[in-house]
Amino acid sequence: MGNVLIIGAGGVGSVVAHKCAQVPEVFSRICLASRTLARCEGIQKSVKERTGRDIEIARVDADNVAETVALIKKVQPSLVLNLALPYQDLHLMDACLETGVDYLDTANYEPPDEAKFCYKWQWEYQDRFREKGLMALLGSGFDPGVTNVYSAYAAKHYFDEIHSIDILDANAGDHGHPFATNFNPEINIREVTARGKYWENGQWIETEPLSVKQSFDFPQIGPKNAYLMYHEELESLAKNIKGLKRIRFWMTFSDNYLKHLEVLQNVGMTGIEPVMFEGREIIPLQFLKALLPDPASLGPRTKGKTCIGNVMEGVKGGKPRKVYIYNVCDHEECYREVGSQAISYTTGVPAMIGAMMMLTGKWRGQGVFNMEELDPDPFMEKLNHHGLPWEVKELA
Ligand code: NDP
Repeated sequence: MGNVLIIGAGGVGSVVAHKCAQVPEVFSRICLASRTLARCEGIQKSVKERTGRDIEIARVDADNVAETVALIKKVQPSLVLNLALPYQDLHLMDACLETGVDYLDTANYEPPDEAKFCYKWQWEYQDRFREKGLMALLGSGFDPGVTNVYSAYAAKHYFDEIHSIDILDANAGDHGHPFATNFNPEINIREVTARGKYWENGQWIETEPLSVKQSFDFPQIGPKNAYLMYHEELESLAKNIKGLKRIRFWMTFSDNYLKHLEVLQNVGMTGIEPVMFEGREIIPLQFLKALLPDPASLGPRTKGKTCIGNVMEGVKGGKPRKVYIYNVCDHEECYREVGSQAISYTTGVPAMIGAMMMLTGKWRGQGVFNMEELDPDPFMEKLNHHGLPWEVKELA
């Protein structure tokens, strides 16, 4: 039924390839392309062993629009899934426009030389996608992604109006390394070291990086310190959830992670400005990435659970209501199923489901969409079937 081109053979791309292969009635043909063909070969082999399916592979530099256009013309997909890095978003959207193919990603565009992510650049593609009758689905991972769908689902079924959303993301996984990031270290550290920001009464309020925290009792994990951070779904949810007065995002970090991060920051290793080293320019954060464990290598070592969800307050039938929607995911179970840890898994499964929604016509539209703008029900149903079941708790 659907022929898809997956770009980016990293931790998330691998999960997406495996999960698409598990649903042959929707994903009849799968091609995985990345800069390093050897990574695609490894995933191709694993998909064959685990699902019995053959996927095609190709080499592409997604920053080279002409190269991607040539690959799209050869593969003829109905959808391009961008699981490379946020730096590639605009180049891949350009290639999709040129070839008349729908687009999906899991992270919004970020310029390589500035630690600033926002939807502005991708929302500017609205008219071009609309005019061509194409659909671009932005942020179809977990957060952003499932957290946006949880918000839309709560707005549809639990509230007349949602007044506050707190997105809480806990990773209680232990990989045994003194310091490692669960997804691309460069993207992760840029995000964590940025100033915090939340939205209240129509205004953005900034905080010092990781300076605001709360203890939250996460289901199946227990109490953990969660730190206020800026996260990209806040931007679209503040715009799209009607009646919202406040939205914040919180993520847990262990004291050990924070200690390492502080030292690395203090010595300048997290900087993104080039420095001269032995006659050539290097970017400290990129050098640090080369030293840190590859997130894809953490899979076999990581034990424990993740828990991501939304605590939402508002009114229903004139009465106040507080609802928590969340998922708990187990690192070792993910590894057994697809050979990846839970961070890649919780991102890759929603990317596959987003693609499924588009290919089966459940989610159709012309233009650029954030997840909360589409009907949450079919997506929520598929989460339960494809490895990310959710729970709803009424809170006092
Ligand atoms: P990885 O670094 O593991 O993988 C990224 C892959 O992209 C690499 O294999 C790399 O390929 C490939 N790539 C990079 N540049 C290019 C290029 N120019 N052309 C082709 N391929 C390229 O990252 P993750 O898998 O952890 O993350 C993937 C994406 O998912 C990121 O955008 C990340 O921000 C997002 N994400 C979203 C989350 C969510 O919940 N929404 C959560 C976690 C991640 P190669 O090795 O071949 O160079």
